[in-house]
Amino acid sequence: MTRATTRALAQARRAWQLLHADAPAAGRIAEQALALALKNDDHPAEAWARLVRGYHRLNFGTLVEAADELRRARNRFDALGDRAGHILAEAGFARSLWRGGRYREAIDTVLPLRDEGLRVLRHAQRGVLLNTIAGCYSVIGDSERAFAYMYQALRDAGPAHGHGIDAVLHCNLSNELLQLGDFEEALRHVEQGRERAARMNNPFLRSVLLINRIICLTEMGRAAEALDDVRAVRDLPADAQGRGGNAKHFETLAIAALAAGDPTLGEELLALADALPGAGLPDERLERVIAQALLDHQRDRLGEALDTLATQRALAADDRVAGLSLRVRCQFFHCASVLHEARGDSAQALADLRQWQSLHLQQAQRASRARYQAAALQTELLRLQHRLEENDAQRRDSERAREALAAANSRLSRRVDEAQALHESLRQQATRDALTGLFNRRHLDDTLPALLAQARRAAEPLAIALIDLDHFKSVNDRFGHDVGDRLLEAFGRLLQRSLRAGDTACRYGGEEFCLLLPATGGLAAQRLVDQLLQRWRREAFELDGLTLQGLSFSAGVVDSDGPLLDPPAVLRAADQALLMAKQLGRNRVLATALPAAA
Ligand code: GH3
Ligand code: MG
Ligand code: MG
Repeated sequence: MTRATTRALAQARRAWQLLHADAPAAGRIAEQALALALKNDDHPAEAWARLVRGYHRLNFGTLVEAADELRRARNRFDALGDRAGHILAEAGFARSLWRGGRYREAIDTVLPLRDEGLRVLRHAQRGVLLNTIAGCYSVIGDSERAFAYMYQALRDAGPAHGHGIDAVLHCNLSNELLQLGDFEEALRHVEQGRERAARMNNPFLRSVLLINRIICLTEMGRAAEALDDVRAVRDLPADAQGRGGNAKHFETLAIAALAAGDPTLGEELLALADALPGAGLPDERLERVIAQALLDHQRDRLGEALDTLATQRALAADDRVAGLSLRVRCQFFHCASVLHEARGDSAQALADLRQWQSLHLQQAQRASRARYQAAALQTELLRLQHRLEENDAQRRDSERAREALAAANSRLSRRVDEAQALHESLRQQATRDALTGLFNRRHLDDTLPALLAQARRAAEPLAIALIDLDHFKSVNDRFGHDVGDRLLEAFGRLLQRSLRAGDTACRYGGEEFCLLLPATGGLAAQRLVDQLLQRWRREAFELDGLTLQGLSFSAGVVDSDGPLLDPPAVLRAADQALLMAKQLGRNRVLATALPAAA
């Protein structure tokens, strides 16, 4: 197994990041990643893919499937020694426990991982752990701790790094505030969560936010405003293709519909709740009888309503039932009090009212303890928002600075290019002859000593040829200086065309040229220059309607074989051979043996 990120692992991690922001895509990608991981025996990818599947099933599958998948993920992570993975899998597993009503076991699973989790997890992953711990505390009625952990979770997984978990946290905060009876504040968090969730594709989260909104409005006596939401949630399929099947909340919706004075809708929703298998969680059981009692009352079956309530009175009065919320208990006794009053049983109505009042007092005490945390949360959120805006501003500033820098850089590199071009042309001017483009006399003087020394070291000959165009003065005289120039250029081109790569052609001065031919003996050089002469003689120039042809030159060739000579002596020897060629009638190449060194 390599340590490199495989395609399957990259896919699985991508799915993890999409878990909240685009739940259907997360589920899909996790499936693909798992198939690929299993095919390639890719254990890290398998662990991550199973983790995502497990979390996805918490909302969109069954709790048993979710727990099973999360256990497999945890075992894979354990075999890999991946502690972060282990903690995330366990947090998910704990979630499946408390969703199933096993609150104590959930806390015992997740709390021992808290300190290590805070060390090894960051941002959204930390948020997931802290949110789970908060949820566990919430269901056992410890709002103070629940708030503290949610507040820390939101700090660690703010909008910038949260991958959407901040929307989940707003949702959970609203839920916690609902339990404390702070409906205004709960509604505020619902709206913040909805605002974020609107940009996400997570029907489960959207529905939970809607349900929290329905509860807020119902508790605030504004149930009629919630009717559209109630119908909207009812119409979302409560299965894996819709809002998920684990938190159907039909009884909550029924209470809202009945409170809004719509018994038909209430009855329909109650029937849906009753059709679910099992007794349900404690809150669900109480809500179901409240809904049933409200319906009976509205159908003028007051006696039946009271009988129904009586079946769960003991549960509603029990302070020690984990997972039973103060809010629903308050609702129960309020409803009981109203119904007994309607029946004319003032004594029982008063007793229920006292129960309701005592629960309200507990709620108020819990709320005041939690208020400190809520205030801290507000400050923290503001600070977060502020930092986000600051980061944004900084990013914009640095983008502007980057653009300015890039512009300055390109101006600078243009200048450098210009300077380099200038430098190159100066260098050329220093070594090149402007008219012919050949090297100049200075370059010859610079390179000849080195070439001679190199030839001597390599024990190879170096041939030097001096060429002087014949009767060039008369060309100038007959056709003008410009024509003379064109001929000099043409001769330069002929040299460049004809010479080999290692050869050097220089304009020695006027109409005289010098060739340096490495690894070439005198005889070979003479042959080469002779070919040049034949070519030059064949060149034809069209001038004002008449053709100039048959031009010649004379040349003297020497080679450096044998005696050791200094550059001026070599040039002098070549010049002597050239003079001889002129004297013998021009239009020829003469080679000369060098005089022996002194
Ligand atoms: P020969 O070498 O055959 O004895 O005769 P020549 O007429 O070529 O000899 P001379 O050295 O007397 O004349 C050289 C002429 O080359 C003189 C000068 O006007 C011409 N010349 C030298 N440099 C240039 C140049 O750059 N352009 C032009 N058009 N003519 C040049
Ligand atoms: Mg001359
Ligand atoms: Mg000449």
